Amino acid sequence: MKTALVLGAGGFIGGHLVKRLKREGFWVRGVDLKFNEHAETEADDFVIGDLREQSVVRAVVDRRFDEVYQLAADMGGAGYVFTGENDADIMHNSATINLNVLDACHKRNIKRVFYSSSACMYPEHNQLDPDNPNCAEDSAYPANPDSEYGWEKLFSERLYLAYNRNFGMECRVARYHNIFGIEGTWDGGKEKAPAALCRKVAACPDGGTIEVWGDGLQTRSFLYVDECLEGTTRLLRSDFEGPVNIGSEEMISINDLARMVADISGKDIKIHNIPGPEGVRGRNSDNRLIAEKLGWEPSETLRAGMEKTYAWIASELARQHNQG
Ligand code: NAD
Repeated sequence: MKTALVLGAGGFIGGHLVKRLKREGFWVRGVDLKFNEHAETEADDFVIGDLREQSVVRAVVDRRFDEVYQLAADMGGAGYVFTGENDADIMHNSATINLNVLDACHKRNIKRVFYSSSACMYPEHNQLDPDNPNCAEDSAYPANPDSEYGWEKLFSERLYLAYNRNFGMECRVARYHNIFGIEGTWDGGKEKAPAALCRKVAACPDGGTIEVWGDGLQTRSFLYVDECLEGTTRLLRSDFEGPVNIGSEEMISINDLARMVADISGKDIKIHNIPGPEGVRGRNSDNRLIAEKLGWEPSETLRAGMEKTYAWIASELARQHNQG
């Protein structure tokens, strides 16, 4: 039986990945600081542990796993990453995890490790025009990410590739672009725009108004989590090391995304734009490289993913309401 190790298995993407690997027949160990809040884990073995501790990482990397997925990171949405208040934690915590994971995997002679970098590592100056952001993989340098979260991702993706060059490892690096879907964080401050808008619309009465951060003209693209995992497993099992974008090319302004959610809900809802952290002006995935190297790129529409996500968040909100 094939074995997989999912680090960050209590998180959003990690939780979905465990389910997927179980469906594929893997024996799966998950590790996280916490269990997933939204769904019971399907991992065969789930270790609650802090990956900043070298001893913990050595203990969970106790055999030669066929596949290792390193998704653990100190992260959140714009309200967590762009205020500046969490910069030292974000850099220290995530870099320490990646240093520990690579060291432990190398010493166990594990070769294949997937690392999730982020589109946040792309230079800010290429993302000032909301209609024409440039996120081609080779536009990464000279580097100028707009957050310390992006700088840490850049450092760590280089670290994984350095282990490939110097120690014969076969790490694979993807740059995720705004992954969303069911069973993700939707309140509490670490949620991202799709989930936050679904929550606001679901909580809003018909004819009411929701608040949207920024002028709403900033653009993004969003990828449904199932497609993200398809790209992730394909990349890990391929002979291409990356870094490569895993994202959608269907770019939309945040106000238009809010209108889409309102339309899905069937409610008549007005948008009130308020000052708030918003990140770069424009960001969109560029899928030319992944299509060339893997012969695959995501294809599900944003609307299809948002319909599933809205239905799930609306039911979670109703459940919370009934309990409270
Ligand atoms: P998430 O926050 O839901 O999952 C990350 C998990 O890592 C959390 O469950 C957290 O508890 C765990 N973790 C953090 N510090 C830890 C520690 N010291 N020890 C053990 N576990 C620890 O985030 P996600 O959306 O599932 O993202 C997974 C990965 O993908 C992250 O590396 C993230 O940076 C990257 N990424 C995500 C997106 C996105 O849109 N979701 C975009 C770009 C990159």
